[in-house]
Amino acid sequence: MDQVECVVIGAGVVGLAVARALAQSGHEVMVLESASAIGTGTSSRNSEVIHAGIYYPKDSLKARLCVQGKRLLYDYCAERGIGHRRCGKLLVATAPEQVPQLHGIKARAELNGVHDLQLLSSTQARAMESELLCNAAIFSPSTGIVDSHTLMLALQGDIENAGGMVVLNSPLAHADCTPAGICLTTVDGTQLLAKRVVNAAGLQAPALAARFTGLAPQHVPRAWFAKGNYFTLAGRAPFSHLIYPVPQPGGLGVHLTLDLGGQAKFGPDVQWVDSAEDLSVDPARGDVFYAEVRKYWPALEDGTLIAGYAGIRPKIHGPGQADCDFLIEGQAEHGVPGLINLFGIESPGLTSALAIGEYLSSWGQS
Ligand SMILES: Cc1cc2nc3c(=O)[nH]c(=O)nc-3n(C[C@H](O)[C@H](O)[C@H](O)COP(=O)(O)OP(=O)(O)OC[C@H]3O[C@@H](n4cnc5c(N)ncnc54)[C@H](O)[C@@H]3O)c2cc1C
Repeated sequence: MDQVECVVIGAGVVGLAVARALAQSGHEVMVLESASAIGTGTSSRNSEVIHAGIYYPKDSLKARLCVQGKRLLYDYCAERGIGHRRCGKLLVATAPEQVPQLHGIKARAELNGVHDLQLLSSTQARAMESELLCNAAIFSPSTGIVDSHTLMLALQGDIENAGGMVVLNSPLAHADCTPAGICLTTVDGTQLLAKRVVNAAGLQAPALAARFTGLAPQHVPRAWFAKGNYFTLAGRAPFSHLIYPVPQPGGLGVHLTLDLGGQAKFGPDVQWVDSAEDLSVDPARGDVFYAEVRKYWPALEDGTLIAGYAGIRPKIHGPGQADCDFLIEGQAEHGVPGLINLFGIESPGLTSALAIGEYLSSWGQS
């Protein structure tokens, strides 16, 4: 049986960032990806926002890895010529009772080390965005956008330059955790023995972990799926900053984001679904979008929102349950030498990817 020191399952932005960090630390690395290209999962179905690290509980992995990941990502984009823009975002209160929430959000951000938020009156916010309606706002200057596909191509290039390999069309079927290492079997029957395995299979990570013999079932969380639908705007938006309402349960609310070409899109909403397969967007959901967006942009015209794309959040908590942190478990937690499982890597996973890579490459063999 062929032997490889480290195998990363999944070539999304997180798997690629982890593989890059391991390869650049001198490890032999192979990435196994089931699809025929890198980054076709959740990593290509998100808002492409570089988050500042505002919302997450103090000392959570989301808070720490987002703030560190943001810094690493801006540096990496600048160094590698990856398209990005530090456009800033306005977080808006659209009802008087939401204004105190802005103060709470700012205080929480400061606990996370985000000290650049500015509270704005509605007049100050309108001076920045003349069509914006709000009672008050927070300006986050360090929020930005990134071309996630070019980012992933750069990560793949770094893996390969460091001697690693990305192997496409290679879905992992199951694994046996043995004293000699972790024996991986792909769907076509190929077997590999690895000393270290990182399960970065995104939406499929819990289902895959359940097929690792030797891993106790209590270390495999139940997977929940929360679809996020987007609608694109026909024509140009009169905004140059990202516009976010205050967060809603399960997501960050129907926000306006811009891509690097200036195209505006709204979303994602939160639609709990039973499977991760259906990525279609029901145009009927547009009615709710008009209502949500008009709370901060009353001039949005009828007939201008077009059903776009959807992404599915890899949740490990269900509707009505408290938000979960990223769940990253190694030998110390589950007892299997060499295995690291990444569960619930939802937003801000794109922002955090490089920091997750650094975090795991320093984990030794755990
Ligand atoms: C609607 C939405 C909006 C978001 N917006 C943002 C944002 O603006 N900013 C931000 O920071 N984060 C955002 N996120 C989160 C971010 O997109 C994810 O955290 C990140 O993309 C997760 O990357 P990943 O590599 O873990 O997973 P994925 O991109 O899903 O990659 C997993 C890979 O594993 C492969 N795979 C699965 N099973 C197997 C198997 N058995 N064998 C081999 N390969 C397998 C899949 O094919 C896939 O390529 C958003 C997420 C959603 C859903």
